[in-house]
Amino acid sequence: MYTIAIIGYGGMGGWHAKQLLSLPEEFRLAGIYDINPERIEAAEKDGIHGYQTLDALLSDPEIRTVILAVPNNFHKPLSIQAMRAGKNVICEKPVMMNAAELEEVIAVSKETGRQFSVHQNRRWDKDFLMVKKLIEDGSIGKPFYIESRVQGSKGIPGDWRCVREAGGGMLLDWGVHLIDQLMYLVDSPVTEVYAHLLSVKFPGVDDNFKLMMRFHNGLSALVEVDTYTFINLPRWHVSGDSGTAQIDDFSCTGRIVRARTEEMRWEPGIVYTVAGPTRTMAPRPKESIEELPLPALESDARDYYRNFRDADEGKAPLAVTPEQALRVMRVIDAVFASAEKGTSISLHI
Ligand code: NAD
Repeated sequence: MYTIAIIGYGGMGGWHAKQLLSLPEEFRLAGIYDINPERIEAAEKDGIHGYQTLDALLSDPEIRTVILAVPNNFHKPLSIQAMRAGKNVICEKPVMMNAAELEEVIAVSKETGRQFSVHQNRRWDKDFLMVKKLIEDGSIGKPFYIESRVQGSKGIPGDWRCVREAGGGMLLDWGVHLIDQLMYLVDSPVTEVYAHLLSVKFPGVDDNFKLMMRFHNGLSALVEVDTYTFINLPRWHVSGDSGTAQIDDFSCTGRIVRARTEEMRWEPGIVYTVAGPTRTMAPRPKESIEELPLPALESDARDYYRNFRDADEGKAPLAVTPEQALRVMRVIDAVFASAEKGTSISLHI
């Protein structure tokens, strides 16, 4: 039985506990530690062992791996402390506050021989896997532009996420998921980023941002995270050289529309707007396009833990590696720099 403990029993710590407890034949949840004694009590009420101190947890020889589900500014010190205590680490995202911090942590992972990974669970999201599959299947031809966004209207939850020093802001929150997904999807270096980080309701942190990314293979992407938008745009809009795919939201409704493969000729139509005619924007005849459903697939996000265990036992390569995380953090560093300077940043990562 693979034994794991959790540090931080808030929203995400609770989620990890639930996931692990749903796999009793594969994982043993040794317990949790939280700096807030009320959260230790809450865990005990949930039937989970509460370690009264961090040292008590880290010195338990039964524990093979710890999950860190604490605010972002604690990821580095706790990762280092846990690995030096002999534990493997699954760190919540963002893996660190910046690439320099991650380099230090990777050095400790190498020195101690402990396995380190970041919980990029959104690689197992169905909407993302659908995009990956429809691109791999060639359903829309060669992709040249991808829009990936998440939007809400409630603002940032009023906790550490509003505090820059704690690693608050949306770039380090949803941004890291969306950038990781794109960099995992597109097998080509990122060559340019240009970002606007906006503070609409929460001074000091980005609560809305717009990011353009260019990849070496010519593909461009728009990444948007908004916490103050009342009419949402699609979660994904993907343009290929023979069609377009759209996924509306997390419920994964949407469609693929593409040109019929057989060559067709038709008289160009004209659309008249109030101010004049347009041929370019006139719709195609219906017979020249076909509509397909999105690919059907299943996903189990608990495969993340299974993979981490299997990699630790030498049975599989690690799915989310520190090196992948370092690429993402270097891009995020460049995104912050772009927003600060108000210019695009060239890179090759
Ligand atoms: P939260 O505020 O709900 O919970 C954080 C918990 O950590 C609290 O109970 C707090 O008391 C405890 N804590 C704070 N400092 C600590 C310390 N030094 N030692 C031990 N415990 C400490 O926050 P959350 O939403 O659970 O977020 C935690 C982490 O999980 C963040 O890094 C966040 O980005 C990440 N997260 C990831 C996902 C995902 O989908 N992967 C989703 C939400 C949050």
